[in-house]
Amino acid sequence: VSQLRKAFDSRSGFLGRKAKLHALDGISFEVQAGEAYGLVGESGCGKSTAGRALLRLIEPDSGEVEFKGQSVISASKRRLRELRRHIQMIFQDPYASLNPKQLVGDLLAEPLKVHRIVSDAEIPERVASLLTSVGLPIEAATKFPHEFSGGQRQRIGIARALALEPEFIVADEAVSALDVSIQAQILLLLQKLQAERNLSFLFITHDLGVLRYFCQRGSVMYLGRLVESGPTRDMLDRPLHPYTQMLREASPSPDPKTARATVKVAGEVPSPLDPPKGCHFHPRCPKAMPHCREVYPEMREVEPGRHVACHLHDPSVMGEQMEGN
Ligand code: SF4
Ligand code: MG
Repeated sequence: VSQLRKAFDSRSGFLGRKAKLHALDGISFEVQAGEAYGLVGESGCGKSTAGRALLRLIEPDSGEVEFKGQSVISASKRRLRELRRHIQMIFQDPYASLNPKQLVGDLLAEPLKVHRIVSDAEIPERVASLLTSVGLPIEAATKFPHEFSGGQRQRIGIARALALEPEFIVADEAVSALDVSIQAQILLLLQKLQAERNLSFLFITHDLGVLRYFCQRGSVMYLGRLVESGPTRDMLDRPLHPYTQMLREASPSPDPKTARATVKVAGEVPSPLDPPKGCHFHPRCPKAMPHCREVYPEMREVEPGRHVACHLHDPSVMGEQMEGN
């Protein structure tokens, strides 16, 4: 993903002033085959827009997305349909994405038929194997989605995503609506499937505990931009960006089984309609310097594999600040 941008038109405030909401303000990252890459941030930071823009469920304004060397952005409709076989999405609320009037068996058979994955005769067997692979009994095929619990419905959502044998899954808050113990079960299931099928994930979450548990690498997002990227353990054990530090301090336990490490941090997120000049984070940053109010810090690699967008980690800026003082 490189320099992906998306702005929405919006009317806000007194007299409905027209404004642009920069949901994605030039984000770049790379997901390796077989890796779970996390995108973490407070609600409204643009992480869901990022997930949807990758699949062009939302058309980005500019930037590039490549899947195994092929452009998703310039793909024809036909090519895009083909690509979407390999890139599937799992949502927070599986109920909203499952047709309530369809039997689970039909829900799972539909993508198999549409994309001619197997012959009609083989469909029942394939549906049964999908249910088994997500830990549901075969009889689930003859029931409706509402007859299942939230966790079971998420299993159905996962089975449906797996029907097309994707290589890459975008999971948008896939466990956020579930109780903590159910969350752990679904994460374990996803890990098992990841290992068995060499799946890659873009895992969107607001929960640092989930990020640490599930993702090998990831990025922290703030107001449409990435502010820090790197291996999740390093990033959470030794955060470099003041915003990552703030998120971490607000998350008491790194273990998703014992506590829900929800992101709650000091201060309000400024409106993405009118982000502050300079570093978007400066109004909330305890380490803000005069320079931060003027110039946006670009992402820089400061250690092998670790990138951060903060002037504190830019020796040239820090040199000038010292001289200025
Ligand atoms: Fe804080 Fe300045 Fe770094 Fe932004 S650039 S995070 S305001 S120190
Ligand atoms: Mg969201």
